[in-house]
Amino acid sequence: MRSNEVVIVGAGHAGAQLAQALRQQHFVGTITVIGEEVDLPYERPPLSKDYLAGDKLFDRLFLRPARFWTERGVDFQLGDRVVAVDPLRHVVTTEGGREQPYGTLVWAAGGAARRLNCPGGDLAGIHTIRTRTDVDQLRAELPAVQRVVVIGGGFIGLEAAAVLRKAGKQVTLLEAQDRVLARVAGEALSSFYAQEHRAQGVDIRSGVTVTDLSGRAGRVTAVNLADGSSLPADLVIVGIGIVPAVAPLLAAGAVGGNGVDVDAQCRTSLPDVHAIGDCAAQASAYAAGAKVRIESVQNAMDQAVIVARHLTGGAVGVPGVPTFWSNQYDLRLQTVGLSIGHDQAVVRGDPAQRSFSVVYLRDGQVIALDCVNAMRDFVQGKALVATGARVAAEHLANATIPLKDLISDTGPAASGESG
Ligand SMILES: Cc1cc2nc3c(=O)[nH]c(=O)nc-3n(C[C@H](O)[C@H](O)[C@H](O)COP(=O)(O)OP(=O)(O)OC[C@H]3O[C@@H](n4cnc5c(N)ncnc54)[C@H](O)[C@@H]3O)c2cc1C
Repeated sequence: MRSNEVVIVGAGHAGAQLAQALRQQHFVGTITVIGEEVDLPYERPPLSKDYLAGDKLFDRLFLRPARFWTERGVDFQLGDRVVAVDPLRHVVTTEGGREQPYGTLVWAAGGAARRLNCPGGDLAGIHTIRTRTDVDQLRAELPAVQRVVVIGGGFIGLEAAAVLRKAGKQVTLLEAQDRVLARVAGEALSSFYAQEHRAQGVDIRSGVTVTDLSGRAGRVTAVNLADGSSLPADLVIVGIGIVPAVAPLLAAGAVGGNGVDVDAQCRTSLPDVHAIGDCAAQASAYAAGAKVRIESVQNAMDQAVIVARHLTGGAVGVPGVPTFWSNQYDLRLQTVGLSIGHDQAVVRGDPAQRSFSVVYLRDGQVIALDCVNAMRDFVQGKALVATGARVAAEHLANATIPLKDLISDTGPAASGESG
């Protein structure tokens, strides 16, 4: 077996971090990274933030300069995508027809932005935000448009709405569920963000269903809703999640569905094939052992390090506490842990002051925090989540008590008296 030939599919956050971590772990074999995009690995989060706003040039987004990769002997094959995996022969085939043998294959292909599948969903003027190309195309159209409809009230939709509102566009944001951020946060955070966006002039409509989009001469002109209303639109942004890019792996027999399933060492069910980042579904201690696909830079980096250690015989790694951030207007949200499945949410501080946190608990244990302009809570709250601390709700709600002082709290929750 050619164990000294590592092939990484996907030149994003996870793929880049793996290549770097392998060299840091003194891996001396070959590292080949095959990437569909033509650019060397770059930061994706600014695509819906400063890069969309035009506040950052693309050159500033590269994770590492080209020289860094050359010096470490990392071979990038960009602008080509892997379409087939042959686990018996240990070979991947690219769209360009090239065969690349591997000793170890690491699938780090992320996902593609989910597109609308309703009538009119493929008209010109409808954009997603996943790649540099997506944003360059979107930005090229911006000067000529005024009315923008954003479909999807998740982080990407909200960040895009904030940028476009600041750019003076008329923005309507549509969310199918009854509140924005419904999939990732509790009610308190959702209503805070909805209020902030409304105060900035974004027309947020929740609980609506898009039926189809109208167009003229092939370009979108309106978004039509199930309630019979029609929203004029010069440009539409669709932020409705991703489809994990795992088709070739599943076709080769890997177990998966929503992503590809991996074990604690990020191994798939195929021999010598690992998967990391947005495309990997892994049991998480931070989701009560449930299998989750975490879409965050932190997760991509942590899983990359786990695989690098595994491949170089280093210490077994475990993913760190999940973290994420989102910038909208002058609000910096930092989240730690996963709030899915919480049965209690405690607001700490005053949302009206635009600096507060929401602490999520399950069965009396702290499982996550959403911290808005509250860096100290974020930093100190990490330890509460990491240790699954049992803290009384009234103590958490008291913003004058630093969270670090609550780590060994023995409030009522600790004795099971409150929940
Ligand atoms: C607009 C936006 C904003 C975000 N903001 C934040 C944020 O604020 N904080 C945060 O933590 N996370 C954020 N994220 C999420 C974060 O960027 C992702 O979790 C992270 O990029 C995942 O890294 P990855 O390497 O798994 O996937 P990606 O970065 O998506 O990289 C995968 C790469 O693989 C390529 N690829 C796919 N299929 C193939 C194939 N068959 N062959 C070859 N190459 C292939 C893709 O083209 C892509 O370049 C954001 C994401 C987006 C899109």
